Amino acid sequence: MANLKLSHIYKVYDNGHKAVNDFSIDIADREFIVFVGPSGCGKSTTLRMIAGLETITAGDLFIDDVLVNDMEPKDRDIAMVFQSYALYPHMTVYENMAFGLRNRKMPEQEIRERVLKAAKMLDIEDYLERKPKEMSGGQRQRVALGRALVRNPKAFLLDEPLSNLDAKLRATMRTEITALHKSLKTTFIYVTHDQVEAMTMGTRIVVMKLGYVQQIDTPMNLYNEPYNKFVAGFIGTPQMNFFDATLKRQGSEVQVDFPNGGRITLPYEKVSKIHARYLDGKTPVIFGIRPEHLELRREGGGLQFVVTNVERLGNETIVYGKLGDKTGEFTMKDEGNQITVKVIDRDDIEVGDVVYAVPNPEKVHFFDAETEITLMNRIPTYNSIPVQTAGGRMQLLNTQTALPPVYAAALSGAKSFELTVPPAAIVPGSDFCRRIAKIEQVDDKHLAYLENGDSYLFALVGADAKPGQDYRFGLLYDKLGVIADGKTVLEPLGDSESLTGTFTRTEKKEKGERVQHFFYCIGDYAVEALPEHGYKINSIDGDACYKKTYRYSVPRDRIRIADEAENALSGRVTALIDYGSARFARVEAAGQTLTVNASADWKEGPVRLAFDSADVSVYSTSIDMKIC
Ligand code: ADP
Repeated sequence: MANLKLSHIYKVYDNGHKAVNDFSIDIADREFIVFVGPSGCGKSTTLRMIAGLETITAGDLFIDDVLVNDMEPKDRDIAMVFQSYALYPHMTVYENMAFGLRNRKMPEQEIRERVLKAAKMLDIEDYLERKPKEMSGGQRQRVALGRALVRNPKAFLLDEPLSNLDAKLRATMRTEITALHKSLKTTFIYVTHDQVEAMTMGTRIVVMKLGYVQQIDTPMNLYNEPYNKFVAGFIGTPQMNFFDATLKRQGSEVQVDFPNGGRITLPYEKVSKIHARYLDGKTPVIFGIRPEHLELRREGGGLQFVVTNVERLGNETIVYGKLGDKTGEFTMKDEGNQITVKVIDRDDIEVGDVVYAVPNPEKVHFFDAETEITLMNRIPTYNSIPVQTAGGRMQLLNTQTALPPVYAAALSGAKSFELTVPPAAIVPGSDFCRRIAKIEQVDDKHLAYLENGDSYLFALVGADAKPGQDYRFGLLYDKLGVIADGKTVLEPLGDSESLTGTFTRTEKKEKGERVQHFFYCIGDYAVEALPEHGYKINSIDGDACYKKTYRYSVPRDRIRIADEAENALSGRVTALIDYGSARFARVEAAGQTLTVNASADWKEGPVRLAFDSADVSVYSTSIDMKIC
């Protein structure tokens, strides 16, 4: 039994190939986690780092809250099962299973008990005297599992264990491994490129692509709410259909228009999370719909297509087709006009038929045409609020309020602008009031739909808020973006500041021992690094670390005024930034600019800043990577 924590894990191979980027996950005890993705996406590398068979370039790996980055594989108390079985050919099944335990000098009697118990669980009791070559692929894989089982490990790591088996055996073994997980009550981490295995076995799935985690979620959330087009296409068979489209809001409906002249209409309520800027009838989007969420009709409405192939699988029929063009001719370029529909209990469709596919409005997906990220995020990224200004005040959400001085300066006279407001920047307060239309629970958060004219403002509210109530709130003005004439004139302030600097080491004799001290150096300011962070930077970059520059990131609320006697980052306050409710200062220091929290009595002029090394995160500047 074990919990595992991967925190900002990276793997850069010696040839410079970055195979795993910023992989973070908390794995609870007894979870069945599946890493899935196309070949080469970094699944095995991650698993091997957990097993200790591959070094971790950067990041921390904890097993049961113990940092194990540098712990030998044999001491991690986890067992790995490989695709290739890795059995000793000259040993019997019994000997293969007993081998690891004998190496650990376990008493023969206990070995026997453990092997027999595992053999029973895996139904290979009758084969214990056989050699691996006298067994089928499925039986060999059981032996490999048995060899892991007898060790009673804290966690099982399985790397494509079923890929050498035929389809039928794979399905059986899938069920058996799931049952094994249930009875062992142990953490499993399972690598596969097969999305069916992932969906049927995992309690949570990590979808990876080219070394990057795409989404970590339960099977049903991946299926219903894929974060991007890649996940949407990877999960589910046959694959989701994707079509280029534009969206236009018409009152309580949204028209979805396709390049071939086809059109469907959806109730606005079903797509209200899509930001208004995509509903202008021009902005290209990608429409996604799964084959099982299209209804086939002989006439009227939906996407017209000609049937090009029909696969009758007995319980279901897969209908393949090509969308037509405006004139009803089916001559459009092949790409992007293929459609797949899955129907059940229908046997009347023939190749050559011209039919209509009607999407289930509850099951539609939309993605940004460029980023391919969903437009229907469970928590929308931001709201847009139009604002008018006059005489130092602003009018927004039917309310007059003071225009923050920093907005006035950024607007340089513009009389109207737009605020981009993340849901988390809407906080309890007294400036505004809207009625809560509905509340949706998203993981541990409560997303409120606040009525706002003919659309919604999305806010995160407390667990006690109820639909029908009035919600009083204010805005965190420093967390909003300001857009005037289509240009961002003020970016939201992030939570941390970055400074570039170097890294140095001193060596001193202390009580007869040579002790190393490491420092983050920003201009003349040297902050002594935590020794473990110093060693980490040195172990990643070698002695080149003393010639490199690093990016040091510090949470803004951890940057303080230095004490008189303290070593400090000397700078100058060059501007005061007044958001009304919050004040900041722009500081020039060591040739860099940073924004720090300021109180009302701050003035332009010299300032000495300090922060603690425990609050510093260090990033490589040569490769996009968090080091510690
Ligand atoms: P997966 O298990 O998802 O198929 P891997 O983790 O095996 O992917 O590999 C991820 C990437 O790292 C691939 O591009 C692979 O070629 C590369 N890679 C794997 N091992 C090494 C190595 N020892 N040296 C350099 N590159 C490697």
